[in-house]
Amino acid sequence: MQQEHIVILGGGYGGLRAVEHLAGDPRFRITLIDRHPYHYLQTEAYGYIAGRFDIHDITIDLANWCRGFGRHVAFKQAEITGVDPEAKEVVLEHERIPYDSLIVATGARTNFFAFIKGLRENSYGVKNLQRAFAFRQTFEQLVYTKVEETRDPEPAELQIAIGGAGLSGVEIAAEMADVIEKHHKTLGTNAKKIRITLIDAADTILPGMSSYIVNRTAKRLESLGIRILTNAFIDRVEDGAIHLKDGTALSYRFMIFTGGIIANTLQSDVPLETNRLGQIVPDAYLRLSPHMNVYAVGDCVELKDAKGNLLPPTAQTAEKSAEYVAASIRKRLNGDPVSPFHAKVDGVFVALGGRYAVGELFGIIRVSGYTAYLLKKLITKGYYLGLKLRINTGFKKRTEA
Ligand SMILES: Cc1cc2nc3c(=O)[nH]c(=O)nc-3n(C[C@H](O)[C@H](O)[C@H](O)COP(=O)(O)OP(=O)(O)OC[C@H]3O[C@@H](n4cnc5c(N)ncnc54)[C@H](O)[C@@H]3O)c2cc1C
Repeated sequence: MQQEHIVILGGGYGGLRAVEHLAGDPRFRITLIDRHPYHYLQTEAYGYIAGRFDIHDITIDLANWCRGFGRHVAFKQAEITGVDPEAKEVVLEHERIPYDSLIVATGARTNFFAFIKGLRENSYGVKNLQRAFAFRQTFEQLVYTKVEETRDPEPAELQIAIGGAGLSGVEIAAEMADVIEKHHKTLGTNAKKIRITLIDAADTILPGMSSYIVNRTAKRLESLGIRILTNAFIDRVEDGAIHLKDGTALSYRFMIFTGGIIANTLQSDVPLETNRLGQIVPDAYLRLSPHMNVYAVGDCVELKDAKGNLLPPTAQTAEKSAEYVAASIRKRLNGDPVSPFHAKVDGVFVALGGRYAVGELFGIIRVSGYTAYLLKKLITKGYYLGLKLRINTGFKKRTEA
């Protein structure tokens, strides 16, 4: 049987879900391509940065994982430079890979807005592992500095600034503050001189989320001693100082920026429509019209719900769009009709340090504290264990080969 070659670009949440939903069909041969040899569990970055998780909790080896499906799924580590839809080829640095169907799942990166002078030079993003690793080391270094000076009667404050109070900024701030709060007895009270400030231009933290989530989160952040600055527009950043539009200057030792993303799209001779986040605007079936065998999923594409509202770029929507595209490819091959893509957000859980979270499911179930933490843990553990089981199979196959 002649197998269709499906190439998937990007081994993130969308790319992996697409592989999972296509690999069971013997009509397909699949190649997953990523510049990194691992899948990075960005959603767990907050725990890694604060030292609660280790590197093995947030990375999954893609070669072993793909091998776990069998010979018809292969992983290739390479930098993707473009797509040639006319020739039906993916362009890599040193070769071209032909495809029958293509799924673009290249995600997004931090948008260090060019209009904020000095932002890129002086702050870190957390959307890739190298940056998260660097931030983890810096956080540990700051704690170490405070441990070393425990006898200083007048210790200076060390400020960590987080630009952007969306999901990722809030989770990282809360986890670091919880570590300090929980361990200052053993670390020495000077550890409490590490101060965390969340800065956002919107009039609330977690813009776009329900008032239940926003209010509970704000309360928790305040109880952890986090300073929240909303309606605060960052004008420029220089080494050691953040200047706001209202003239205020905040000193900082370390700054991360989680205030915006820009999609990773690929070079193509075919002009693609993109939105203000750089996301590809697809047709109703997530295809990059007019090349009907090219699809896009996840953060790199504009996704909408049934009412036409934009969906937030999350792992949840990346997975839903990938499931939809995988099903569409199968349906088209079977000659079955395909309906347009619509998804909705089932719920959101915000990890707020230690064993505390806030969550909302289907707009009606609301939980906070330990119960929400357990539910969030169940979801993330389930995801991780699924990947781990596949890794175990892949690793066994490698040693048997
Ligand atoms: C700290 C943090 C916390 C978050 N918490 C949550 C949460 O609780 N819930 C939630 O749903 N979402 C959360 N998110 C958002 C979520 O992580 C993203 O929406 C999700 O990763 C998007 O998945 P994706 O597959 O589209 O892209 P990604 O997961 O970003 O994957 C894209 C992949 O493409 C590869 N790639 C890109 N360009 C190229 C190229 N040119 N060549 C080769 N490879 C390339 C990258 O290496 C990467 O592996 C969080 C994000 C962060 C940063």
